[in-house]
Amino acid sequence: MSVFVTKPFVPPLEEYIAELEKIWRDRVFTNQGRCVTSLEKVIREYLQCQNFQLVSNGTIALQLAIDALNIKEGEIITTPFTYVATITSILWQRCTPVFADIELNNFTINPEEVEALISSHTKAIMPVHVFGYACKVDELEKISKNYNVPLIYDAAHAFGSKYKGQSLLTFGDLSTVSFHATKLYHMAEGGGISVNSTQLSSRVDLLKRFGHHYDEYICPGINAKISEIQAALGLVNFKYLNSIISERKSISMKYDYLLDNVISRPAAQEGLDYNYAYYPVVFDNEAELLKVIDTLNKCDIYPRRYFYPSLNTLPYVEKRSCPISESLSKRILCIPLYIGLEDDYIEKIALLIKKTVG
Ligand SMILES: *Cc1c(COP(=O)(O)O)cnc(C)c1O
Repeated sequence: MSVFVTKPFVPPLEEYIAELEKIWRDRVFTNQGRCVTSLEKVIREYLQCQNFQLVSNGTIALQLAIDALNIKEGEIITTPFTYVATITSILWQRCTPVFADIELNNFTINPEEVEALISSHTKAIMPVHVFGYACKVDELEKISKNYNVPLIYDAAHAFGSKYKGQSLLTFGDLSTVSFHATKLYHMAEGGGISVNSTQLSSRVDLLKRFGHHYDEYICPGINAKISEIQAALGLVNFKYLNSIISERKSISMKYDYLLDNVISRPAAQEGLDYNYAYYPVVFDNEAELLKVIDTLNKCDIYPRRYFYPSLNTLPYVEKRSCPISESLSKRILCIPLYIGLEDDYIEKIALLIKKTVG
C-alpha cells in the first residue's frame, strides 16, 4: 500500500447520500441553495465571525479579496514560504508580489521585514498562517493601521486554529480559506472568505455572482459560487471536524514522541490552539532531506516538499532575496498525516527517518 502525505477524510457514504437525496428532491443545485446557506451559518457560528461566505475554491477567495478592496494594480507584500496559489492570485489580479522574509521559528512572515517594504506602491499585505501556525497578528495589525494598508490573510491552512481563543479566520480585513480535498476539513473543492466589514462582505457577495443583482448590473464580477453538491459534503464533514482535529493531534503527538531530538520542529506558540493541519519536519541540510525522501520512497511512502522552492525564486516574479525562506524550503518536509494512518506506519516512518538522519 502506498502512503501519501495526505488522504482526504471521508464520512460514511450513507450520510452523504441522505444529503444528496434532499438535493434530488428539491432540484436546487446551486445559487445560494439550502446546503450553502446552512453551511455558511454553521461555519459563521463555529468561527465566531461577522461575515462568512463560501466560494468555489481558496484561490478565487484570495482574488475576490483583492478585488473587493478595489486593488487593480500595485504591490502586495507577501511571504515566499507558501503554496503557489497565494502568489498566482496576486499576479492574476495584475498586482506585483513583494516578498518579505519569514520567521525561522514558525515559518510565518516577519513583520519587521513587512514594515521595511512598505512604500507608496503598497496596496495590501497578504500574510499566510502557514501550516495553521499563527502569524504575528498583533504586530501585523499595528503595521496595517499605522500605514493604512489593508490586511488579507491567506488562512487556507488555518481552519480550526485559534489564537488567544479566537479563530485565525477572524483577523485582518479579510481572511480566506481553502476547503480543497487535501485540507483538513474539505468539500472536494471549495473555499471561503471571512470579512470583518459588512459593507466589504456585500461587495464580495456581489463580485462572486457576476456583479449584478437581478436586473441591476453594478460591476464586472465573476462566477465564484460553490454548488449544493459540495456544500452537502461540507455539511456532513463538518460533523466530524472535532474528531478530525483530535485524531490528527494524536498522530502528531506520536510523531513528536518518536522523533524527539531527531529533527527540528516549529516552536510552540503561546496562545495558539493548533489544528494539526500538517506535520512539517526540518533537517540540517538538503542532502539529508533528499536521503530521507529516497529512503521513504523505497518503502512506498511519499512525503511532500511543502514548500519548495521558495516562491521569491520563481521564474515569473520580481526576485528579492529571502535567505531564511530559501534555506528553509530546501530542508523542510511534510510527512504523512491523515485520518486512518495506522500506528505501524507512524512507527515505520519515524524509524526510517531516524535511521537515515541518525
Ligand atoms: C490550498 C491553498 C490555497 C488554494 O486553495 P484552493 O482551494 O486549492 O484553490 C491557497 N493558499 C494556500 C496556502 C494553500 O495551501
